[in-house]
Amino acid sequence: MRRLVLRRGIFLLVLLVLWEELADSSLIPPAQMASPVKIRVRIYEKELVVTVRGFDLRLYTGINKTQLVYFANQLSEWNVQCQNGKIFLTQEHRNYVLPEPLVIESEAGFTSVQNFPYRETLLFYSKGKYCETINVLDIEKYLDGLVNLEFSAQWSKEAVAAQIIAARSYGYYQMLEARKNHHTHFDVEASVKDQLYRGSMHEHFRASQIVNQTQGLILMMHENQILKPIKAFYHSMCGGQTILPETVWGRNHFGFKKGVPCPFCKNSPFFKWEFFLSESDLKALIRQGVKDTGFPKDWLRISSIILSYISSGILSKWKLENISVSRADNFDRVKEIELHFKNRLERVIFRVSGNRFRSWLGANRLKSTIFQIKTSVMLGDHGWYLMGRGNGHGVGLCQWGAKVMGEKGYQMATILRHYYPDALIYKLW
Ligand SMILES: [Zn+2]
Repeated sequence: MRRLVLRRGIFLLVLLVLWEELADSSLIPPAQMASPVKIRVRIYEKELVVTVRGFDLRLYTGINKTQLVYFANQLSEWNVQCQNGKIFLTQEHRNYVLPEPLVIESEAGFTSVQNFPYRETLLFYSKGKYCETINVLDIEKYLDGLVNLEFSAQWSKEAVAAQIIAARSYGYYQMLEARKNHHTHFDVEASVKDQLYRGSMHEHFRASQIVNQTQGLILMMHENQILKPIKAFYHSMCGGQTILPETVWGRNHFGFKKGVPCPFCKNSPFFKWEFFLSESDLKALIRQGVKDTGFPKDWLRISSIILSYISSGILSKWKLENISVSRADNFDRVKEIELHFKNRLERVIFRVSGNRFRSWLGANRLKSTIFQIKTSVMLGDHGWYLMGRGNGHGVGLCQWGAKVMGEKGYQMATILRHYYPDALIYKLW
């Protein structure tokens, strides 16, 4: 009897394992066909020394790999330095001085750059005394690398698919633009300027499978009867309504004709935010913001007053009386802020766009331009309470919204049609 129970147990166990294997087989990515599109990602703009390590490295000069400089069928490591058109390569007992660009590839398919793993090809150009480092790889493998940086592999499959198609469209658009103008060695930055990328460090099998299944799908639109990819902007959380690119960057973008309501992100735990901004903090942030992003073009007059204000100390003739929202749209998105300055003789009001104010304060602190301001005093410190909602610029796909749409059972195409109502999905490769 006991043996029978044991046998039945083993039988059930085998059945369970078989069942799980069958269920899991859908998770094994099919062999991916290489796409015909190679994207050039600038992974470092300015490094004094770049350390490259890998098995079976091949080092060439010239963009077309015209001369093989070195190869080794073993692990090797090189320090790369750059200066005015020349590349300086050093290893323990070897030194080379080469014309730019330097090309490094590995027979194994992977190299390590500053301890991050990268697929396919590396390019090095000099930028004064710095090295500009570019990773050239299959656009589909580039998309694999965005996972868990730009989006989570744990989202529902349809939401991940929508996000991947948006990211592919964005990358492909940037690629065509860069090559049309021929003024750069690269197509996209590996930073928040374009899309966050750290090589193959964050690849995830589930997301890679969805990249495979959506291979070559791009959001496109006709312009003068010519089909073009759209620059498929996306952001963390819209706060209830997406907006047009011109609202943020002052110029319109092909493929965006209207913002859309988004009822999907409002239950996010990060939907609302608030923080106290003391006057001393504000002064420091404006000082840094002016250094990083500068003044608007037509701001000659305010620049002298603001510079006087942020110079601090007794030399500062101008005081900031208050800041307030002077213009906002129907969804509380701030169009314009007023800065009320005064000195001993006069009062002056200056107006700055909500986006400029956000770039001065930093996008991490002022998470979106949907906010209200209240004057406040905290522990004797004069300042303002800023209370807002949403996170990011608000153009295109709302990532929290897409995540929730996926959880509610919406399909990838429906999610994309919601956030990019004017675009259509085409398979280009
Ligand atoms: Zn939203």
